[in-house]
Amino acid sequence: MAGIAIIGAGECGGRAALALRDLGYEGPVTLVGDEPHLPYERPPLSKDAMTGEAPAIKAIATDALFAERAIRHIHSVRAVAVDRAAHVVQLSDGSSLPYDKLLLATGSVPRQLPMLGLGSRCVYLRTFNDALAMRAHLSAGSRVAIIGGGFIGLELAASARKLGAEVIVIEAQPRILMRGVPAEIAGIIHKAHEAEGVSIRTGQGLAAIADDGKEVAIALADGQKIVADLAVIGIGAVPVTVLAAEAGLAIDNGIAVDERLRTADPDIFAAGDCCSFPLTVYGGRRVRLEAWRNAQEQGALAARNMLGADEAHAAVPWFWSDQYGLTLQIAGLSDEGKSIVRRDLDDGAFILFHLAQDGRLVAASGIGPGNAVARDIRLAEMLIAGRAKPAPEALGSQAVKLKSLLAA
Ligand code: FAD
Ligand code: NAP
Repeated sequence: MAGIAIIGAGECGGRAALALRDLGYEGPVTLVGDEPHLPYERPPLSKDAMTGEAPAIKAIATDALFAERAIRHIHSVRAVAVDRAAHVVQLSDGSSLPYDKLLLATGSVPRQLPMLGLGSRCVYLRTFNDALAMRAHLSAGSRVAIIGGGFIGLELAASARKLGAEVIVIEAQPRILMRGVPAEIAGIIHKAHEAEGVSIRTGQGLAAIADDGKEVAIALADGQKIVADLAVIGIGAVPVTVLAAEAGLAIDNGIAVDERLRTADPDIFAAGDCCSFPLTVYGGRRVRLEAWRNAQEQGALAARNMLGADEAHAAVPWFWSDQYGLTLQIAGLSDEGKSIVRRDLDDGAFILFHLAQDGRLVAASGIGPGNAVARDIRLAEMLIAGRAKPAPEALGSQAVKLKSLLAA
């Protein structure tokens, strides 16, 4: 028996390997990753891990756990080709790995700026090693220019301010968090950054960037010049699909899988950031989700389906972001909404419910201090999963418990 091979030892691959054992699978399980570490959590890299003395890894599993569960973890080795006919993966150390079932969990990588020849003061953040390189240039008084007002950029802006750095965020769009976050909530986050001393320049294209290894000179399209000790580039992520593409598998904004996470090859599955799939809750709309919980859920679902279950992905998308004392949480796909109902909670927290044309709740976006929105977002998720059409007046009224809408 060749067993199950998992390529990509990140959130998704790591969880899938453990899930296979939880499900009682007794054949060989091999997890191949090109990073030198055990699978680890990426969310802390832009948050807590950046503000401590030195970034620390939060591992998903230990070597001892992998040994106990008979999971072979091959690290610092890249899968370079898949021979589908022979059911073998070629690895960068020259060895080959046979498989009965193969899971591609290769994640995503930062989108690169088109300018070439950037030096060590222009950095991206995806891996623990990236975090170490970035932290080395972050201290009180250092000048940090962040290109991209998305999640990486804004979470790092908050962390850099915590360390006492001077921070400028440059965003090409007319506002920060343009995609997927409602303007009202983005406005609150924008104000929180300004109150903490971050300068945010929206609607600003980048004309040129030069890095001499000591400092970075940035020219904006409107002629403004910025000099920084460090430029952090957070302009989105692209799925890692090369292995699948070269193996002749379909690519459609990620490795294309069905709702059971299967590629067209019955023995190859893909999950997590690297794949696009039809989302049943939204009528089969094909999406690619770049979120921590999705990577976990899909790792576990792929494990079940590789072992013969026939289960469709049914989870509602969900993610969070922490910046200063604020937590943003979004459940569902807000761009499916046609109208918004606001519900105020305690301590200035609020939730925006996004309703489709036919009144169906399709998303809920909340923001507030700490965990203020967590419970109601969880209930909203259940309403979305149940395809509920709650009355807008009830959603908007704090006097009506969301739980009662669920029961209805
Ligand atoms: P990854 O975690 O990217 O893992 C894929 C792994 O596969 C990588 O180690 C990669 O090197 C490896 N690999 C790729 N190709 C090969 C190959 N050919 N051979 C061997 N190995 C290979 N999400 C949230 O919901 N909330 C957050 O607050 C949040 N914060 C984040 C902060 C940061 C800094 C980052 C980078 C991401 C954050 N995310 C957050 C997103 C979340 O971490 C990702 O969605 C999640 O890590 C995706 O898991 P994955 O396993 O699909 O991919
Ligand atoms: P992102 O959230 O997609 O944001 C990138 C932002 O940069 C977008 O607003 C984008 O605008 C803008 N941009 C693109 N090109 C630009 C340019 N040339 N100049 C200035 N701005 C530009 O991606 P990210 O913040 O880079 O995050 C990368 C990955 O990490 C994603 O997978 C993300 O999900 C993950 N992550 C998630 C969290 C979280 O969920 N809390 C936290 C950190 C990281 P356009 O929309 O026009 O492209």
